[in-house]
Amino acid sequence: MARSNPRLEAALGDITAARVDAVVNAANRQLAGGGGVDGAIHRAAGVTELQAACRVIGECAPGHAVATEGFKLAARWIIHTVGPMWRDGAHQEAEILASCYRSCLAVADELGATSIAFPAISTGIYGYPAQLAAAIAITTVRETPTDVTLVCFVAFDLDTFALYQQLL
Ligand code: ADP
Repeated sequence: MARSNPRLEAALGDITAARVDAVVNAANRQLAGGGGVDGAIHRAAGVTELQAACRVIGECAPGHAVATEGFKLAARWIIHTVGPMWRDGAHQEAEILASCYRSCLAVADELGATSIAFPAISTGIYGYPAQLAAAIAITTVRETPTDVTLVCFVAFDLDTFALYQQLL
């Protein structure tokens, strides 16, 4: 299939309701479930089913991505990626965050997913400054060759939504 640039969109709301082939989860290394978007995705997909699928995979290193089915989500797949914990910006945070977006698109291509929704990875509990993270998210997706045709950046707060709108 010929690769062309995907359409990029910003949305505001709950990513668990996104009508896309694949929803990205901002997971932790243990894929153990947690708070924030991870907890919301687990509840919406079905905690028991998703935990069992994650247990089979084991761990995921920061910057990498792994897929499970979407279970009760409208999305067919969940792509779990582990963002960097923000320290001071001098600990490869930007490289790891960019790698999350690239890895998710690579996994989407392997699955044959053509639409994907990303949360603002690392900007919650992991403390990544929202503006820096939004710029990395959009730049990285724009620069990554993929067969995905629609990328939706889902903000959960108005400030993040405004950042995406400015950058798109
Ligand atoms: P991290 O540990 O990677 O920082 P968090 O889940 O704490 O992950 O936060 C990442 C982003 O996801 C934050 O911007 C947070 O507001 C947002 N978020 C939380 N719940 C949802 C949800 N249901 N849908 C979309 N985004 C969400």
